[in-house]
Amino acid sequence: MIIPDAKIVCVDCGGSCYPLSWKPEDGPVEIGTHIGYRCADCLDRWDIVAEAEEDQG
Ligand SMILES: [Zn+2]
Repeated sequence: MIIPDAKIVCVDCGGSCYPLSWKPEDGPVEIGTHIGYRCADCLDRWDIVAEAEEDQG
C-alpha cells in the first residue's frame, strides 16, 4: 500500500495537478492503482500509477 501524491506538477505547463479519483482522506491505495490527475491550469489529464518508494530500509 502507498499514499499517492496529493499534488503533482504538470509536465506541459508546470501547473498543479490534483487527483480526480482519490482524496488524501481516502488513505493508502494498492500499488499499481491508476489515479487520474487534472491540471488546474491547462486542464490536461494525467494518469499516474501508484508505485512503491525505493527508500524503505
Ligand atoms: Zn498543465
